[in-house]
Amino acid sequence: MKHSDAETIAAIATPVGLGGIGIVRLSGPQATQLLSKVFFSPKVSSGLKSHRLYHGWIGSAQNKIDEVLVSFMAGPNSYTGEDVVEISCHGGRLVVDKILELILVAGARLAEKGEFTKRAFLNGRLDLAQAEAVVDLISAKSGPALAAASAQLAGELSLRIKSIRERLVKLLSRIEASIDFPDDLAAVDKKQATKTIVGAGAEITRLLALAEEGRLVREGVRVAIIGKPNVGKSSLLNRLAQDDRAIVSPLPGTTRDTIEEAVTLGGLSLVLIDTAGLRPAGDQVEAAGIGRTLDEIKKADIILLVVDASAQLSGADDRALLEAGEGGVIIVFNKIDLGRKAAESFGGERPKFMISALSGVGVADLKKGIVDNLPGGNNFEEVSRGVINTRHKECLFRAQESLQKIMVGLDAGVPQDLIAIDVRGAIIALGEISGEQVSEEVIEQIFQNFCVGK
Ligand code: GDP
Repeated sequence: MKHSDAETIAAIATPVGLGGIGIVRLSGPQATQLLSKVFFSPKVSSGLKSHRLYHGWIGSAQNKIDEVLVSFMAGPNSYTGEDVVEISCHGGRLVVDKILELILVAGARLAEKGEFTKRAFLNGRLDLAQAEAVVDLISAKSGPALAAASAQLAGELSLRIKSIRERLVKLLSRIEASIDFPDDLAAVDKKQATKTIVGAGAEITRLLALAEEGRLVREGVRVAIIGKPNVGKSSLLNRLAQDDRAIVSPLPGTTRDTIEEAVTLGGLSLVLIDTAGLRPAGDQVEAAGIGRTLDEIKKADIILLVVDASAQLSGADDRALLEAGEGGVIIVFNKIDLGRKAAESFGGERPKFMISALSGVGVADLKKGIVDNLPGGNNFEEVSRGVINTRHKECLFRAQESLQKIMVGLDAGVPQDLIAIDVRGAIIALGEISGEQVSEEVIEQIFQNFCVGK
């Protein structure tokens, strides 16, 4: 799909606000022509040469607006694959807005969200998984998340998928040939076909196994702090956040009675959630708070169940333990500076830590314990090479399903043309990951997650 006759689009590519430099970006066949209406430079007499930087002014000789540097990248050797012009101006909000306005008046259309990257995809500069990596790269909040996005942008995931897909394409063409020319070609050898399918299936299983850890790398680990009132949940959250508060904007969806704080720990981003105390609800408001705590428990990857080490445990602690469930629970005995009356057998075999949120004693060990007890282990170096998102996961599941059908079919000796249908199914599902075979709808959905200017 070539976009050579597409409209020329423009947008501000830098963040809103004050900055040293702001960039207005244009892409499309008329990029240089539109630029020439607003840019003048004593040194530019004829047209711009590709991959050069030009100094000049935006505005006119009578009405200079800003002194700028303009770069021009002729298609197809540009980000979008089309002619791209980038105007680097001073980073004041009004300046950038004014320059964009002039470009729009000159005849460009304001770019939609992610439209530059979408054009890059449509023009074959990036495949779909790489385009998705652009968003991940921009929004990465931890080292492993960044490494994962970089690997995906470099095409590592696409390469793995491509290799599986190519093996299946080869098998399909062999099956189709034997269907078309039954006299010349024997039916595909069952053993050979099984080997290909098992190999492809194993590779998909490996990728899927990394998906859960991948999600933790990409989205961060949700850590719910629960326990009865007054055991020190908020104090613990503050203590954990104090040293390692993440440099991120306030989290969306923060509710009245659950407080969220993002921190980085062991190179990963963690979302700590302080929940409403668990106890028999006194009134409706409290019941609603407890309901939300139970929701957070369900969503959490790790639960820190806090009890007061200096007092006898009570039924409310048992209730909290029951609600916490089996998986990923760490017992935190807090307030050890006040004494140790609580039975240390509480929580059975679960990992336990003795701390004082007030003084900070034991908190370093607890932090290490959180990282050590992350679901799927803590080998995020390896994980970050194969991170897949929910969309990829869904495609892999569909491919896996087709492969299973093929295995059943081969065993039962069903006709080759029926086997071919499922091989094709698996190929299509894999092709959706890199975008070789993908619907317009899926493409639209993906680029909706981008910001304008990207
Ligand atoms: P939450 O209701 O579970 O969130 O508990 P808070 O964090 O609000 O703490 C309840 C009370 O216990 C506050 O007065 C805290 O100062 C106190 N507290 C919390 N942690 C400790 C601790 O480790 N030692 C002592 N001595 N007091 C603590």
